[in-house]
Amino acid sequence: MVDLDRLKEGVRGKKLIVFGPPGSGKGNRSNDLKALGLVAISAGIVLRNRLRDEPNSDLSKKVAYHMKKGELVPSDIIVPIILGSLEQRDVLERGFVLDGFPRTRDQGKVLFSRIDSDLVLFLDVPRSFLTYGVIEGNRRVCPTCQKGYSDFDPPKEEGLCDICRSRLVKRLDDDASIIEKRLKDYDKQVKELLPLLESTGKFQKLSITVDKDEEIDERLLKKIKGEVYWVETDDGGKARMLNLEGMRMRLYNLIWEIFVGS
Ligand code: AMP
Repeated sequence: MVDLDRLKEGVRGKKLIVFGPPGSGKGNRSNDLKALGLVAISAGIVLRNRLRDEPNSDLSKKVAYHMKKGELVPSDIIVPIILGSLEQRDVLERGFVLDGFPRTRDQGKVLFSRIDSDLVLFLDVPRSFLTYGVIEGNRRVCPTCQKGYSDFDPPKEEGLCDICRSRLVKRLDDDASIIEKRLKDYDKQVKELLPLLESTGKFQKLSITVDKDEEIDERLLKKIKGEVYWVETDDGGKARMLNLEGMRMRLYNLIWEIFVGS
C-alpha cells in the first residue's frame, strides 16, 4: 500500500499526459491523478463544458458539429484553449494531468515545444473492450462534474452521480457507428503520434488486464452482474481485467515507482 501523502508530495508540480483510444478510461485515470492534487485538464471535458455554458455561440456550434460526427474539432479551436489552460498559475504550481490532448502529431509538436512532460501514460486496453465498454456497458456521464459510469462501474444509486447527485446522461458521441469511426480515426492518428510520444523518454504503458497466474483480490476485478468478466485480448486469448479500484492501485504503484521511489 503506498503512502498517499508522500505520493501527493512526489507528483506536485509534475506534468502528466494521459493517452489512449476512445473508451480506454482516460477520464477515470485523470480523476485518480486529480485526487493526488494535480489539476485535471481534459480536452473533451473542456469542449463539453463550452457547449453546456454557451450553447448558442458560433464557437459552440462549430464544436458541436464536429463532436456529433465523432470528428476532431479543428486545431485552431482546441490548441489555444488547451495551451491557455496550461499557463494558469495554479496549474503551473500544482502540476497537471492532461487527457485527450495531443491527439494528432501536429498537436503533439505544439505541446512538446511548450512543455517538458514528466510522464506520458499510454492506456493499454484490449480492442474488443473499447466498443463493448461504451456500448454494451452503457457508458453515461455526469453533466456537472463529468465523472463517467458504466454497468461495470455503476453509480451507487442508478441514474445519479455519486459525487454531485446530478442526473446522468449519455454522451453526444456514444453511438455504435460513431465509436467505430472514432476508433478508425484513432488508428490513423496513433501511428503518427506514438513515435513522438515515445521520443519524450517518459512514455509508460499501463495495462488494464491481469496476467493468468497473477494472484489478485477478486474485489479488484471487473465484474458484470457479480461474475468476473473475461475480455478477449488482442492476441486472441482471454484475460481478466482490473476494475476502477484495481486500476487506481496499479496507477498509484507506477506513479510511486517513478516519482517517489523506495
Ligand atoms: P473525449 O472526451 O476525449 O472522448 O473527446 C470527445 C470529443 O471531443 C472528440 O471526439 C473530439 O470531437 C473532441 N476532442 C477531444 N480532444 C480533442 C483534440 N485533442 N483535438 C480535437 N478534438 C478533440
